[in-house]
Amino acid sequence: MPTGHFSELRGDIGSITAVEMVDQNPIGRSSRSNPVTYLKAFDDIRKLYAEQQLAVQYGFKPAHFSFNVEGGRCEECQGEGVIRVEMQFMADVILTCETCKGMRFKKEVLEIKYHGKNIHDILEMTVDEAIEFFSTKKEKICKKITEKIKPLSDVGLGYVSLGQSSSTLSGGESQRIKLAYFLGQERNSGSMLFIFDEPTTGLHFHDINKLMKSLNALVENGHTVLLVEHNLDVIRCADWVIDMGPEGGESGGEIVFEGTPEDLINEKRSYTGKYLGEKADRQNNE
Ligand SMILES: [Zn+2]
Repeated sequence: MPTGHFSELRGDIGSITAVEMVDQNPIGRSSRSNPVTYLKAFDDIRKLYAEQQLAVQYGFKPAHFSFNVEGGRCEECQGEGVIRVEMQFMADVILTCETCKGMRFKKEVLEIKYHGKNIHDILEMTVDEAIEFFSTKKEKICKKITEKIKPLSDVGLGYVSLGQSSSTLSGGESQRIKLAYFLGQERNSGSMLFIFDEPTTGLHFHDINKLMKSLNALVENGHTVLLVEHNLDVIRCADWVIDMGPEGGESGGEIVFEGTPEDLINEKRSYTGKYLGEKADRQNNE
């Protein structure tokens, strides 16, 4: 049957308020998107900087601390920090902007500091560094900023910098930033169905554990998570497994089994069940 064609949709569909496919496509359409803008924490950071004494003196508004609009950004590079030189027969050459030295803002904007850090320093911080920085400050808005950034650390992205361009993030990282966004949303945002296509691809064991914790947090917030996955450690944690097979490609596509991971182990036709059983035996013998 072709994709998207079905004869009937059954079940308690009314209890789901929205469906969200969390894919590995880049966050935002331009290279200007980054983790801190995607999680909307940059709005609060810009507000905080506009409140500093020198900023008030200069008449700066939060918009002056944006690299997306004219005002405070370096106009030479339009806030990119780099200049792209198009070459006729070669790939573009990317040079650091000489005017702002890659710092993306005008000199006066970079003079504004909060506890010794200017807006460029903040964008250079890793998620974990930023959490440490903002969580120890007394301003209310810093608490808000910390809360918005924290989900990034929870999904195992404590090492990315706040201002890291979306074009340099891997597919798995982009996917987890999207997950972090939903984790940061209010608990009463309804019961959503989240769909992930092989979210563990490219992840180390340690990060898979973090991802699983985050997915469980979604479930605890009243949401449903549907994963397309081959990873046995992930399958083992599911409440319900739908095993497709029995073989791959042309010889597959049938539902071989439906039920709990415990019962899947006893399903003779299922390769997944066989490997899941072997893995469980190995772990029991260890
Ligand atoms: Zn510049």
